Amino acid sequence: MNSENSSHNFIREIIDEDIKDNKHGGKIVTRFPPEPNGYLHIGHAKSICLNFGIAKEYGGICSLRFDDTNPAKEESEYVESIKEDVKWLGFDWQDRLYFTSDYFDKLYEFAIKLISEGKAYVDSLSMEQIRDYRGTLKEPGKDSPYRSRSVEENVELFEKMKDGQFNEGSHVLRAKIDMSSANINMRDPVIYRIIKTSHHRTASKFNIYPTYDFAHGQSDSLEGVTHSLCTLEFEDHRPLYDWFIKELGIHVSRQIEFARLNLSFTILSKRKLSELVKNNHVSGWDDPRMPTISGLRRRGFTPESIINFCNQIGVSKNNSLIDISLLEYCIRIDLNKKALRVMAVLNPLKVIIDNYPDDLEEQLDAINNPEDESMGTRKVPFSKILYIERDDFREQSSKKYFRLSPGKEVRLRYAYFVTCTGFTKDESTGQVTEVHCTYDPRTKGGSSPDGRKVKGTIHWVSQKHCIESEVRLYDRLFSVSEPDSVKNGKDYKEYFNQDSLKTLKSCKLEPSLREVRPYCNYQFERLGYFCIDPVEYENNKIVFNRTISLRDTWAKIQDSNK
Ligand code: ATP
Ligand code: MG
Repeated sequence: MNSENSSHNFIREIIDEDIKDNKHGGKIVTRFPPEPNGYLHIGHAKSICLNFGIAKEYGGICSLRFDDTNPAKEESEYVESIKEDVKWLGFDWQDRLYFTSDYFDKLYEFAIKLISEGKAYVDSLSMEQIRDYRGTLKEPGKDSPYRSRSVEENVELFEKMKDGQFNEGSHVLRAKIDMSSANINMRDPVIYRIIKTSHHRTASKFNIYPTYDFAHGQSDSLEGVTHSLCTLEFEDHRPLYDWFIKELGIHVSRQIEFARLNLSFTILSKRKLSELVKNNHVSGWDDPRMPTISGLRRRGFTPESIINFCNQIGVSKNNSLIDISLLEYCIRIDLNKKALRVMAVLNPLKVIIDNYPDDLEEQLDAINNPEDESMGTRKVPFSKILYIERDDFREQSSKKYFRLSPGKEVRLRYAYFVTCTGFTKDESTGQVTEVHCTYDPRTKGGSSPDGRKVKGTIHWVSQKHCIESEVRLYDRLFSVSEPDSVKNGKDYKEYFNQDSLKTLKSCKLEPSLREVRPYCNYQFERLGYFCIDPVEYENNKIVFNRTISLRDTWAKIQDSNK
């Protein structure tokens, strides 16, 4: 596996070769071309890292281009979110922010050129008929009766289409290539259709819009893109793109396809993610369970962890499924270095230290990050009444249980050794309400002068000093590894993990957390990495999101493979 930024791959090999041959004068131009019909997901991050990464590495340039050819599905909200996400990942398109819609006039000219040369025609079959005429993988297609229209008639009809004189669906413009081609994409593909929806940038200027196939390659060409990197599903479209470029006699970009990222326990498709949003399975595109960049950001992921993940998975020609625990591993190793350690109790149980003076308060030293001494220490207040995790107490002791139970001694992190002397219980509910302990004043700081050992160390907060907060714990979005796989037989939404969000209303946190800001990461000792929810923060509400627990399943997988 690669850990460096410049992970080597087959695309870089092709580029090295092109540079050696002085193709394009050694210049490298790439682009990231999202369609603004949804928020970006982690699959897009792979493409962003690849395109911007290659440009940076080879001293080239990379632009951001919105492939906004379909007014019916696209919105400015998506444009803004995509810009924000690319910037947040740390990439800069400088002054190269482009829109395919900026080329609509140019693309129209290209269409007229093809018509004039007898290489495109207006077809008046319905979309259904066009599909029927197209044939199948085994059978060739057949010519439309309108295929032989004269150049003059085609130009006239096409202009009328543009001017809005026809209804949607009544005519389309098709390239005249080969209805019996083995590649279905070459069987006179539709290149323009009538759409009377207002466009987010050109409003109602056009009544016709180019198809993605007619726009994508030409946009690359107009921008002087040298290496057009896209996912494997466009491999079969390459001959068509090449045909347009050749017939139009314009700059040739080299298209190279790579495998999409597929990630277990989630889905990477804007259309399907958008369904989860619309059906209220999640709170929005930036719900912290979503594999979107905005969801991951809100959950507490860092750009570094996502970039490292993209480097680790590499780039290849083969489709594969990446284990989501690799992404979790990448955020854990990043936060292990960066996150301040603090103490917080998620399921509080009251502990009273009977022999501790009633009004004494002590400020104890705690280490901010054992991985990085330069992060220093802080003071944590201690007093007679504390909270510990409910899980850290048991009514019955056993040999293997090292935390608190009657008669057992444990270490309170950074504080004292305490021994449990008893507890009280609400008989009606069976719930333990209070635990009583005594402390050994000679064990201040958590070590014993007589060399006495305790096996368990538990975290705590002081009742008098702590702050209360809501905490949200997240689990995987889907309950099966490949929710989208046909093997499962059901619709992916049926595998939505109903237990993927757990809200804890009155957690107790050490007082240093009073000052938190969005995008600061903390490790709640023994519980995982947390950050405050930036959206709730805007609404003046403090809620902590768990980014990830401490349990590292990826490292375990790696170990068992050794
Ligand atoms: P989706 O199916 O999620 O809508 P898309 O391919 O239609 O994805 P685009 O907006 O067209 O989304 O994608 C922009 C760029 O990101 C394209 O170059 C596309 O190939 C790339 N991309 C999209 N999804 C992935 C993925 N899962 N892995 C790698 N690259 C991806
Ligand atoms: Mg697309």
